[in-house]
Amino acid sequence: MWVYLNDKFVPQEEAVVSVFDHGFLYGDGVYETLRAYRGRVFKLAEHLARLERSASRIQLHLPAGPERLTDLVGEALRRNQLSDSYLRITVSRGTGEIGLDPALCKTPTLVIIARPFQPYPESIYAEGVSVIVARTRRNLPEALPPQVKSLNFLNNILAKMEAKAAGAHEALMLNHRGDITEGTTSNVFVFQEGRLQTPSVECGILDGITRELVLQLASELGIPWEETRLTIEDLMRAEECFLTNTTQEVLSVTRVDGQMIGDGRPGGITRRLHASLRACLDRFLGGT
Ligand code: PMP
Repeated sequence: MWVYLNDKFVPQEEAVVSVFDHGFLYGDGVYETLRAYRGRVFKLAEHLARLERSASRIQLHLPAGPERLTDLVGEALRRNQLSDSYLRITVSRGTGEIGLDPALCKTPTLVIIARPFQPYPESIYAEGVSVIVARTRRNLPEALPPQVKSLNFLNNILAKMEAKAAGAHEALMLNHRGDITEGTTSNVFVFQEGRLQTPSVECGILDGITRELVLQLASELGIPWEETRLTIEDLMRAEECFLTNTTQEVLSVTRVDGQMIGDGRPGGITRRLHASLRACLDRFLGGT
């Protein structure tokens, strides 16, 4: 496989970053996860815009603009002869002397990895997944803002470890007020009393690109929705619950902390929204 590193594509064995890279030393950097269907990256412009927003919030100047990154992502797919692919763009502060000051790094490190997409088993869509509410809380918006998709992912990793230990697919994290925020790599929605609800950005979440699309699709389908505050109790009494992200699309949650949600099967609204996202994808791919 070919990996783009700084200024050229190199074989993956040669795609090596310095031990003085501040991404390695301090988690100082940002990233994006993208998905290509049949050789075309879905919501590419939105991912690149979020990368730019994340970078600017940590005062990191991206070494390539959206046009260049679009070309490089396309080239990463072509070179690796990939059609359905998982891509990751990583930008770290770069290599520099040890010390927190970003000025120690002259040039950011840019890495683009493209991998064949490993589809999730169909059973998780047919049956839904279980999640836990993690003890680990989401970063405070006033600390490391959850809207920055940073390389500093330990908070989410701790929550993911809790999920794994409990045999759950995902962990939901609460904020400092005790409200639900999001999963370790996903946004969360509930459907109750005829209304779709999802935690607002103000609760301390990453503004997911799939989340945004799902809200748009809900509007098109005439499903009322709101961005709000959700408690664990709201979650437990929901008729339906689902997760969204770039790689999993829309994934039904049928158990929270071992307790069944709704009738314990993927709900109708969840399935309609997922079907609608797939239809949107088909339109994007234009029958290619
Ligand atoms: N929240 C977090 C913390 C994430 O890492 C992700 C994955 N990028 C999401 C939500 C979902 O975002 P998206 O729909 O843009 O993949």
